[in-house]
Amino acid sequence: MNFDCKSLKTKKFVADMHTHTDSSPDCSCDIDDLCKAQINKGTSVFAITDHFNMDAKDSGEDIDAPIVSSFKKATEAAEKYKDKIEILRGIEVGEGIWYKDVAEKMIGRFDFDVVIGSVHTVITEEIKGPYSMFDFSTLSSEELERFVVKYFDDLLNTANQCDYDILAHLNCPERYVNGKYKIGYDFMKHEEIIREILKTVIRRDKALELNTSNNSFCKGFFMPDAKILSIYHDLGGSLLTIGSDAHFAENACIAFDQAEEILHSLGFSTLCCFRKRKAFLYNF
Ligand SMILES: [Zn+2]
Ligand SMILES: [Zn+2]
Repeated sequence: MNFDCKSLKTKKFVADMHTHTDSSPDCSCDIDDLCKAQINKGTSVFAITDHFNMDAKDSGEDIDAPIVSSFKKATEAAEKYKDKIEILRGIEVGEGIWYKDVAEKMIGRFDFDVVIGSVHTVITEEIKGPYSMFDFSTLSSEELERFVVKYFDDLLNTANQCDYDILAHLNCPERYVNGKYKIGYDFMKHEEIIREILKTVIRRDKALELNTSNNSFCKGFFMPDAKILSIYHDLGGSLLTIGSDAHFAENACIAFDQAEEILHSLGFSTLCCFRKRKAFLYNF
């Protein structure tokens, strides 16, 4: 494991390992605006990780072209802002287990610094697209149960089988089920499979993400939450990244101070960033 010497400098080292630009279908943020916002916030390094979603491939979208464009723009931005900030080139692969060959081909096509693995779409009888778009108030408790079980199964398979460096937003459905629709579902009744997912991340030497993304129904809602992070710590998990998942420039590094406070209280003292797909630790 490499220790990042830059973190030894007096200025606090801050790495935002998950952001989006207008090369993602759900984001209209101009890359220059994002870079300037990160520079203004004093970020040391950040990764541009636009979406590469397998469910979009199924609906006939060209999912390659936006990544080609994202990589090119990130490379140009890295050069343009190199005196002010370090910009990493990444990708967020959604539903990598659906088409592992397609995901691996794209990952191998460019010299990415970091690959994020995510599950945004879980197909059940009732849900046919991204769960972020689904109205969970229409589900019976059995249907919701089936969805959550399937989500964690898909995430465990992703953790086990896919090529990634960071496993993203572990309990993401919770922000819709409980955050947006206020259903009060107890996700921790699936603690057993959550533990399996965390153990898999540790066994494969991957990093777990603490995602601080922000919108009207999930302010201060971290993914995963302190309970899951403390299990990760108890299981011996040490590789952790922090990501704003910003889809708007103003959300760059959002709530990092609060997130770091939680991590300190749980006994974590290092975070990591990735360069050329290698983890670099830094104190925070
Ligand atoms: Zn995501
Ligand atoms: Zn994202």
